Amino acid sequence: MPLRFYNTLTQELEVFHPLHDNTVRMYTCGPTVYNFVHIGNFRTFTFQDILRRWLRYRGYQLDHVMNVTDVDDKIIVNAAKAKKSIEDYTAVFTKAFFDDAARLRLEPPEHVAPATKHIGVMVKAIEELASKGCTYTSEGSMYFRIATFPEYGKLSHNDFSGIRSGARVDVDEYDKADARDFVLWKAQKDNEPAWDTPFGSGRPGWHIECSAMAMSYLGETLDIHAGGVDLIFPHHENEIAQSESISGKPFARYWLHAEHLHIESQKMSKSLGNFYTLRDLLEMGYQPEPIRYLLASVPYRKKLNFTFEGLKAATKTIERLRDFELRLTTTKLPTGTNEAVSERSHQAIREFEAGMDDDLNTAEALAAIFEYVRAMNTALDENQFREENRWDAARVLEVLDSVFDILKPSEQTASQNGASGGRQVAISDSEVEAYIEERVQAKKSRNFARADEIRAVLQEKVVLLEDTKDGVRWKRK
Ligand code: AMP
Ligand code: ZN
Repeated sequence: MPLRFYNTLTQELEVFHPLHDNTVRMYTCGPTVYNFVHIGNFRTFTFQDILRRWLRYRGYQLDHVMNVTDVDDKIIVNAAKAKKSIEDYTAVFTKAFFDDAARLRLEPPEHVAPATKHIGVMVKAIEELASKGCTYTSEGSMYFRIATFPEYGKLSHNDFSGIRSGARVDVDEYDKADARDFVLWKAQKDNEPAWDTPFGSGRPGWHIECSAMAMSYLGETLDIHAGGVDLIFPHHENEIAQSESISGKPFARYWLHAEHLHIESQKMSKSLGNFYTLRDLLEMGYQPEPIRYLLASVPYRKKLNFTFEGLKAATKTIERLRDFELRLTTTKLPTGTNEAVSERSHQAIREFEAGMDDDLNTAEALAAIFEYVRAMNTALDENQFREENRWDAARVLEVLDSVFDILKPSEQTASQNGASGGRQVAISDSEVEAYIEERVQAKKSRNFARADEIRAVLQEKVVLLEDTKDGVRWKRK
């Protein structure tokens, strides 16, 4: 069976092919950098990483754009409270997002597009909409008139035909049953950050940000557009209205949406206060790999209920896989090959592929691997394994890890890359204190080179040191 995805637009499972050549043009909605993102957000970003890796496994190249929303109401309010510019305020959380993403082994997209660096394309898109009669101005702000787009509602499958009253909203998210004219350009209020344009001083709405950047990087029709289910309405519905009004062509061919991560039967969200960040979990001593595993192991269209038992079970699962890998590489085996064992390895890969091709059914794909590992452990116990079978089995684990990326422990990866490169690992408070004590001793014995080295190591591990007359103070960056 070929690769298939469930398309929110058609509500059907469809065979996937890119429109042009072998490259998949994909746009995913990225984070709003007003705070640390939580593991619910990372469920959606992990799904996008699995999607990327599976497309590549299937021989496609990727041209993937992810935006970073670095100007919006919450950012402006928070930055003002912190007495910082929005640039300085968002820089910290943008960096934190990408550090966390790297710890979760999420591949960086080909293009990361911060909204504030792309105001020009947004202004151009708004001008095109204005020239087509899709906009109006009220109190200095510009709005998209949804009555000009009769297909409005086709993604969320809502029939809005009766309620197009000309009501409008300035906020970017609103009630599901309620279609409203949405803001394209917000007039500047008080001392808010603003950009000068032919239609006044202000800032872009969230929806135009994604439409304009997606089309400027990827062209009028994307292959895939993805995000969390909460983005279907109004955000993605509005993106379609804007983009298709400009181009007259379908905006995205496949719309993929990840279900939410829940905790105690509620959506994990900042506003409910029921969230954990990745940093919280690392501080509690959990490793990035089981967190990644947990986020990826439930198929993306199913709700994922986060529990600590689940996280512990994920840790055990990874241990079992690593034990098998170790057993494979260390057991002494008689020469030759056992055809039945070899065929069982090929079968495992076929089943894994069938699961992933079926709309990224990660649960099915993983189940195929677990059954295989169980069977192979038995084969090893019963001395049925031969030297040549090692390579078939290693290939199975390689296929698994090309998508799930959980077999290599984080610390090992970091030390392999050396202190100055690769991923950072979490460092505990006691480790920091131990380093500081060593540095004090090094300075006492006038070993300044070692003292500097320790400062560099700690800086690499996101700790800032300050030598004061009362001793050494440190804090996390
Ligand atoms: P935001 O930074 O709020 O724009 O969200 C970034 C991404 O995380 C979006 O694709 C959201 O749909 C997604 N998201 C937000 N909350 C959750 C959740 N509890 N579970 C899964 N995805 C979420
Ligand atoms: Zn978006």
